[in-house]
Amino acid sequence: MSSLSQQVMQTYRELVDEINQDVARLRKEYGGVPCPSDCFKCCLNTSTIPISEVEARDLKVGLDALPLSIRHHIRQKAQNTIKVLEAEGFSPDEMVKDSGMEAIQVIKGKSYGECPMLIGGVCSVYEHRPVICRVWGYPINNGSELACCKKTFIGQRRNYKPIEYAEYWRRCRKLSESLGADKKTPNCYLVVKLLEE
Ligand code: SF4
Ligand code: SF4
Repeated sequence: MSSLSQQVMQTYRELVDEINQDVARLRKEYGGVPCPSDCFKCCLNTSTIPISEVEARDLKVGLDALPLSIRHHIRQKAQNTIKVLEAEGFSPDEMVKDSGMEAIQVIKGKSYGECPMLIGGVCSVYEHRPVICRVWGYPINNGSELACCKKTFIGQRRNYKPIEYAEYWRRCRKLSESLGADKKTPNCYLVVKLLEE
C-alpha cells in the first residue's frame, strides 16, 4: 500500500472513531441501544447499496479475516444477487445513480435482497461495516431531512441532537476522491470484487 493510501485509510479510521463516539453519545443520552436485540431487518434489503472506496478498503480487511468457507458463502450470495439483477436488466452503473433504490424494489424481501455479509442474522464484518450501517437506528441529519429507522426513537426523534451523517459522508467521499476513486460500487458487485482480489 502506498504512503498516500496508508495516510488516507488512517484518516478514515479516525473518522470512523469519531462516528462511533457520536453514536455512543446518542446511545448514552437515550439510555441504551434503541434496537430490539433480535432485529437485523435493516440488513435485509441492502444488497444494492452503493459503497465508497475507503469503506470498501476497510471492508476488505474484515472479509480477508474471515474463514475461507464463510468467504465462499458470502461470494456465492453476492453472485446469486447479481444473477437475479442482471436477469432483470439492471447494471451496476444504473444502481449507483439512484443509490440502488429501483433495483432493491425488485428483490426486496427475497434472500438475494439481503446484504451478502449477513450470516445467520449477524454482520460478519461488524468492525469494518460501512458508515450507514454504523449510524442507522439513530436520528441522522441526511442533508435534507431528519431520518431514522421506523422502529426506533418513535415520537422522540427531535429530542436529541442527531448524528451529522451528511457531513460524515462528505468527508468519506473526499477521502475516496483523494485516492482517485469518486465512483461507488453496489454492495453485491463490490463484495465479489473484493473477494476475488
Ligand atoms: S455490512 Fe453488516 S451491518 Fe451493514 S448491511 Fe451488511 S450485514 Fe448489515
Ligand atoms: S436500525 Fe431498525 S431495522 Fe435495523 S436493527 Fe435497529 S430497529 Fe432493526
